[in-house]
Amino acid sequence: MAFDIEMIRKVYEELPGKIEAARKEAGRPLTLAEKILFAHLHTDMPLKNFERGTHYVDFAPDRVAMQDATAQMALLQFMQAGRPQVAVPSTVHCDHLIQAKTGAAEDLVAAMNTNKEVYDFLASVCNKYGLGFWKPGAGIIHQVVLENYAFPGGMMIGTDSHTPNAGGLGMIAIGVGGADASDVMAGLAWELKWPKLIGIKLTGKLSGWTAPKDIILKVAGILTVKGGTGAIVEYFGEGADAISATGKATICNMGAEIGATCSIFAYDEKMSNYLKVTDRADIADLANGIIEHLRPDPEVAAAPEKYYNEVIEINLSELEPHINGPYTPDLAWPISRFAEAVRSNNWPEKLEVALIGSCTNSSYEDISRSVSVARQAVDKHLKVQSEFTISPGSELVRYTVEKDGLLQAYDTMGGIVMANACGPCIGQWARHIDDPTRKNSIITSFNRNFAKRNDSFPGTHAFVASPEIVTAFALAGDLTFNPLKDTLLNEDGEQVMLDEPTGFELPPQGFSVEDAGYQAPAEDPSSVEVLVSPESQRLQLLAPFAPWEGTDIKGLRLLIKVRGKCTTDHISMAGPWLKFRGHLDNISNNMLIGALNFFNDSTDKVKNQLTGEYGPVPATARAYKAAGIGSIVVGDENYGEGSSREHAAMEPRYLGVRAILVKSFARIHETNLKKQGMLALTFANKEDYDKFLEDDVIDIEGLNHFEPGTSLTVVLHHTDGTSESISVNHTYNDQQIKWFKAGAALNIIRQNALAKQQQ
Ligand code: SF4
Repeated sequence: MAFDIEMIRKVYEELPGKIEAARKEAGRPLTLAEKILFAHLHTDMPLKNFERGTHYVDFAPDRVAMQDATAQMALLQFMQAGRPQVAVPSTVHCDHLIQAKTGAAEDLVAAMNTNKEVYDFLASVCNKYGLGFWKPGAGIIHQVVLENYAFPGGMMIGTDSHTPNAGGLGMIAIGVGGADASDVMAGLAWELKWPKLIGIKLTGKLSGWTAPKDIILKVAGILTVKGGTGAIVEYFGEGADAISATGKATICNMGAEIGATCSIFAYDEKMSNYLKVTDRADIADLANGIIEHLRPDPEVAAAPEKYYNEVIEINLSELEPHINGPYTPDLAWPISRFAEAVRSNNWPEKLEVALIGSCTNSSYEDISRSVSVARQAVDKHLKVQSEFTISPGSELVRYTVEKDGLLQAYDTMGGIVMANACGPCIGQWARHIDDPTRKNSIITSFNRNFAKRNDSFPGTHAFVASPEIVTAFALAGDLTFNPLKDTLLNEDGEQVMLDEPTGFELPPQGFSVEDAGYQAPAEDPSSVEVLVSPESQRLQLLAPFAPWEGTDIKGLRLLIKVRGKCTTDHISMAGPWLKFRGHLDNISNNMLIGALNFFNDSTDKVKNQLTGEYGPVPATARAYKAAGIGSIVVGDENYGEGSSREHAAMEPRYLGVRAILVKSFARIHETNLKKQGMLALTFANKEDYDKFLEDDVIDIEGLNHFEPGTSLTVVLHHTDGTSESISVNHTYNDQQIKWFKAGAALNIIRQNALAKQQQ
């Protein structure tokens, strides 16, 4: 059901030839990441184009995965493409919208009621267009992908930042925005800057309290939250091969915390074992047949500094358990120094909640090791001292650990098992606390611990550690505890020491599950109807954007001249607005409300030139749109930096903004604007920014000769009757100019699909 062996067979048939050709052209051995990247090029390109960190290259990923929050707009856009089916195998996972409150059963029922229209929509789109649908309660996207879809040597994109989790099975898996996902599902190439490479050599072996999580916590401390930006992190060495596949996945998952494009491990026996136990022996057999292509060339490991931009070495035999935080995942503390750090920084010593699970750490191995600590509560007459919750990563793991008698240990210890979902990891947590403003400490086995992420309370100090350390802390209830050397006072008044955790890498009797929560797409999609209520406040079908009118654009009003930083968050704020991410009209009411107006240094207060009054940016844009008048946004440097959020490009397009003219763009946002049929322009002379006045009426000229490398002219008509012409640049290529003329990139795909159907 869940994987496409024919697709993988084809990838493996082509992989050796492609890698051989790349190695020949490079004239040197290749790292694993390079092999997979070369094997997934969308079109052949000369090797000189692959200079690391500078050139953008088109790729053809094998798969797309989407979580329920980001899938909504990605699928609404994909539907615009007019294709009968997705171009590559794709799946949707219902995990982000379930709130953890009282326990798995009740919380799941509540989520089904609250999010019914979203789930019905996603299920119906999957059914109609050939996507796999994982129902609420099936599990967290990355764990389910690891169990069912990830395969060594493959390439996947996913609409979630922890997509790199699949690197644990030797896959290049990268988190992207919804627009990228809809493009790939529609059959377009996917663009990525050819990455730099960081090699991490692991020597020695993990033992005792130290777990795979501690490797990435240590790496985060070394590289910091920015150190992996623009790079693929490749792990190698005998220490790497000794880590379980799920342990490798934990490390790759948290590579997102150092900003890495993705992280990857080479194919080995551990991956083979995991594939077999998750019912994919045929993939393991195929991979074993080409194993030398699924590992870096031997010369790379022998002299890594010649092939990676940076090399870090970690001796696992010397690695201590780590605890990172608070407020940032790169504040790394070896456990021997943590108690002192807590005291000297005056962090709350009392531990209030311990939480394990999430996509990062909820494998059978994680749970079995954590349970080996939990069981000591009974044996050594200890009681849990803090609240303790468990969020399993998938129904497959949950069912198996229950069948194997592991889950019961948490019950006995006083823990609460939540739904197989993200829950507290993404703030979907109805936490019970007397005073949400007071300082308090929690510890999780999740990946992110930025302020307010888990419970939205600014005073919460969140720390990150392995599941076994989190479980030990739940028994201690005190952040200054060190299970490696400290004792705990039990109910009999005795001082007892916790034994080192032990566990099973894979379930001794194999995995089993009654209902994994998967819905295959309909065999006959013709009668499937996509379910969206016209009254819905959360979902709205998209209408195609209008094509270019074929003339210069005249009479635009200046909507806002933005002063200073303007990220995608300033353009399309998150927080409470996220519930409207499937409803373009409703979410457009957040457009640019965080941007600073140059003329009054206020946010969300701009002049409506039709009335002379000041009002919110979205309402003003709507007033122009209603009057049939277009508008323009003027901005500063690096406009649109931040996360790749397609709403930041769709909203202005929807509200009638025709052009964004700035000193410079963040590249991804610039491309997103082009995809939506907008004009993304930059000042030829940055000082011309100063010429824009609040009441200007603006023309854009030269569009009948819109060509790559030529500039356009913007004419400013001031209220005093004078006019000024300025030159503006663009980076559109031929294809992108076609997108502009058609009204959007998806309009072209739809035209092509229609033409095909009519043949
Ligand atoms: S468990 Fe947390 S990190 Fe993982 S997908 Fe869910 S929200 Fe993201």
